Amino acid sequence: MTKLNENFLKLQANYLFIDIANKVKAFTSNHPNIDIIRMGIGDVTRPLPPAVVEGMKNAADEMKEEKTFRGYGPEQGYPFLQEAIIKNDYLSRNINILPEELFINDGAKSDTGNIGDIFSIDNTICVTDPIYPVYIDSNVMCGRAGNLTPNGWSNIVYVPCNSENHFVPELPHQHVDIIYLCYPNNPTGTVLTRSQLNEWVKYALDNGSIILYDSAYEAFICEDDVPHSIYEIEGARHCAIEFRSFSKTAGFTGVRCGYTVIPNELVLQSSDNQSIRLNRLWARRQGTKYNGTSYITQRAAEAIYSPQGQQEIKANIDYYMRNAEIMRNSLIKCGLEVIGGVNAPYIWVKTPDGMSSWEFFDRLLQEVHIVCTPGVGFGPSGEGYIRFTAFGTREQSIEAMYRISTWI
Ligand SMILES: *Cc1c(COP(=O)(O)O)cnc(C)c1O
Repeated sequence: MTKLNENFLKLQANYLFIDIANKVKAFTSNHPNIDIIRMGIGDVTRPLPPAVVEGMKNAADEMKEEKTFRGYGPEQGYPFLQEAIIKNDYLSRNINILPEELFINDGAKSDTGNIGDIFSIDNTICVTDPIYPVYIDSNVMCGRAGNLTPNGWSNIVYVPCNSENHFVPELPHQHVDIIYLCYPNNPTGTVLTRSQLNEWVKYALDNGSIILYDSAYEAFICEDDVPHSIYEIEGARHCAIEFRSFSKTAGFTGVRCGYTVIPNELVLQSSDNQSIRLNRLWARRQGTKYNGTSYITQRAAEAIYSPQGQQEIKANIDYYMRNAEIMRNSLIKCGLEVIGGVNAPYIWVKTPDGMSSWEFFDRLLQEVHIVCTPGVGFGPSGEGYIRFTAFGTREQSIEAMYRISTWI
């Protein structure tokens, strides 16, 4: 008999977005004429920047000519895109990254979910709570998370982020091997300052841990004291892998492109005492299981870095962050406790009167016809909060805030 990978059966039925969809569907079928505003799922609404579409079209034209047609590309990505990333995202901040340390991919979800392939099952994981569910579920699937207990997964250390610690995670009190950090944070919209991130890098260096740093929302950072890359922190090249994505930066959620940086200094010892460079192991893994991001997509991503592309993505980011500002101000005026929305397109709101996340979700849906995401879906510390995204249109954002302020 063929046997299953039963780790999949341990996955908590992650019904979050399905539950939300079902509740919304039930409501709309009972009230077909009511206009619902969806501020739940973190997908963008602004169309692709024209410069990006131009880059795609030119690449598509090359593909129809025998002379310029491209088949399989270089395994870690085309040099033209690697160079654009290195120059614009890193050299501009005095960070030196080599092409051999950079991996172009089809988005940050794939690599944050797959990176565990190069680490032993016998590693203790640390996550901040609440958190992007991919980090936990990908560890459950390979058996690294252990078993589910009333306090969460047995091999995962949860670091709560809540009002009491002002959403700044405390360092773990025990040894952990692999630490997932996501800043600016999804779902809370909070950030770590340079000195706060420095503490984590120091912990990792002192403990021989590796930080998996997801900076998918880096482009939304507005404040000076917030690092855009973990490599702005001294020593991070010895302990951190960084994941970036064009999804939120440039509207690539449906186009699919991102990248991962694994510095040459990241070297682990094998049990027979060989020094193994993690980026060579990852190159081997990708070479076997991934055949690269399409040429057309990589040309589209390259176009983001043209002067026109930079202007156009900035206009879109400004648009979302203006939504966030409108939402923040309005919710604060309503007397709610509001977190995030300054360096990230997410607003994390404490439910009033001690309501649970789902209770407040239901009331927003039933009474003002707004869909949010219940915070508890992102982990136990999310209970008593909900998340709004600023990725809607301006009209929707304003209308939603109007409905809430006249209701609450
Ligand atoms: C949206 C998001 C990503 C990006 O995922 P892609 O696969 O690049 O679309 C990565 N990490 C977090 C935390 C996100 O919210």
